[in-house]
Amino acid sequence: MKIELTAPMQKVMSPQLMQRLQRTLDEFPELQSYTLRIGLVMHSNVHGNADSRNMLIRLNTRARSGMSYFTIAHELTHLLQKPGLGTVPYGEIQCDIYTLARSSLFTDDMPTYLPGLSCKKRDWTHHAAAVRDLCIEAIEVRKLRRTYIAWLSQAIDEYFKFPS
Ligand SMILES: [Zn+2]
Repeated sequence: MKIELTAPMQKVMSPQLMQRLQRTLDEFPELQSYTLRIGLVMHSNVHGNADSRNMLIRLNTRARSGMSYFTIAHELTHLLQKPGLGTVPYGEIQCDIYTLARSSLFTDDMPTYLPGLSCKKRDWTHHAAAVRDLCIEAIEVRKLRRTYIAWLSQAIDEYFKFPS
């Protein structure tokens, strides 16, 4: 995997962030043969964005909560959606589902778009593994029916009625 930093990102890149980036990329073997460009989101309250046509992700290094593995992975998962590799179904909810399912490393921050998450951000850590298991199951359900997001939404609702 070749990584290119944009000029603004070069100025703010830290050894810690680079290490996080590399560790996250280890979980994306299908991106290994590409040159990945990493840019910076400025003047924004979003955590990042992605341009899958150009294998470019932008991260907001000033996000108050810091750069979680989840945030980096969410943007990398966008590269797997069209017009990128097209191996993950298109959409933000879909992106969260496939990101969380990919690795337990990515349970370190609460997803933004996953439906039915009725816990506070600070309580996420208690529910992350259970919700991740449901995401993995939902991807299996998708092989049988297209309504897997509705299935997942209901499963998450049920879980939060009686969280384990
Ligand atoms: Zn996104």
